[in-house]
Amino acid sequence: MKVHELSFYSKFQCAMGSCPNTCCQGWQIVLDHDTVQKYMEKKGRQGLWLRSSLTSHNGAILFRGKRRKCPFLSKDLLCKIQLSLGEEYLSDVCRIFPRQRINYGYFAEESLFLACPQVCRLFLNNLDHLCYKTTDRNVSYAKSGTNDDAEYLQELVEIRLALTEQIMNHPLPRPMLYTGLLSYAKALQQSYIANYAPSDGSKSSYFSKPVHTDLAAHIREADTPFIIPHDITYAMLTGSFYHIFLKMVSPFLYSLCRTYQKEFKWLTSAKGDAKLSVLLEQLHVHHPNTERILRGYLTYYLLEKFLTVYEDYSFLHNIATGIMHTHLLELFFALYHEKNHRLTDDDIIRIITVYNRRGRHNDEIEMEMYEKLKRFLDAPAGKRP
Ligand code: SF4
Repeated sequence: MKVHELSFYSKFQCAMGSCPNTCCQGWQIVLDHDTVQKYMEKKGRQGLWLRSSLTSHNGAILFRGKRRKCPFLSKDLLCKIQLSLGEEYLSDVCRIFPRQRINYGYFAEESLFLACPQVCRLFLNNLDHLCYKTTDRNVSYAKSGTNDDAEYLQELVEIRLALTEQIMNHPLPRPMLYTGLLSYAKALQQSYIANYAPSDGSKSSYFSKPVHTDLAAHIREADTPFIIPHDITYAMLTGSFYHIFLKMVSPFLYSLCRTYQKEFKWLTSAKGDAKLSVLLEQLHVHHPNTERILRGYLTYYLLEKFLTVYEDYSFLHNIATGIMHTHLLELFFALYHEKNHRLTDDDIIRIITVYNRRGRHNDEIEMEMYEKLKRFLDAPAGKRP
């Protein structure tokens, strides 16, 4: 089978005991059915040891950890299950993280989540190689999803390639580029839906070719920058994204959120917009390299997530969500720089890791943030706040 493998996929190595931000704390691990079954069947004291650490919530089986710290994390930051019972007793998510592996039937894709600091470091070191390379081998994981339209899937791969090339290389300022990307996403979505035409039943012709697929033209026609205003940003960062318990489970992110709230809470829309603009400008004056990192972040987002439109056809949602995350990450870079007068690679890695764990790996939080952005996107351009 053809496998699209992220260019640095094979270079990933877990830092284990020396990880600066272990994935064994800060979030709850939902156990898969087979692992729970294995724990139930394990005999003797080890079985008791495993089962006594399980709890359930809303029908899901989880590890019972204090402050979302895995109960099997040793003082040396190693996994006690792996040490005493071996990898076969790890849950699927523990064994696979931070890898993402998706089998689309016609090919598979393998990438890495930026919620792991080791992956973030690889990402920073490979900004010129954010792409997939194709290999030919068997994969053990099953096909996911229900779509089987090979032609549409191949079109998506080509569209993604064009998008990522433009994002990394187009000379337009990023907010202008965003306008072009969003206009392109809307046109693509309308075009695919308008051309929906079940035909003679052949699997490859569910859609006739969309008519508005000239990405370069949409970017060329962008005439106003797309800037997410203060009001929307504030709403996104003070909903479920922020919670008092962050103080315990992710103190670093909590402190960034508190800094943000102290600076922006009482500002009017106009003053908030002005402050946001100055803050971001200062970031880019002092750290011009962050521009490439942010373009890389959006590119990476599309490498990881763009093919979800294979199932849901939501081009606008997909691309706007990537822009939203890039905007919030840029804001956190800027806040950190303003407060600490520095932004090293290690700082950037730390910020991306904690942001992704909170904003990207929690569907409810991500959807709630996107709903705020959607209200802004849906408003006629002249009536936007
Ligand atoms: S966050 Fe990454 S490097 Fe750290 S323990 Fe987890 S997988 Fe290993």
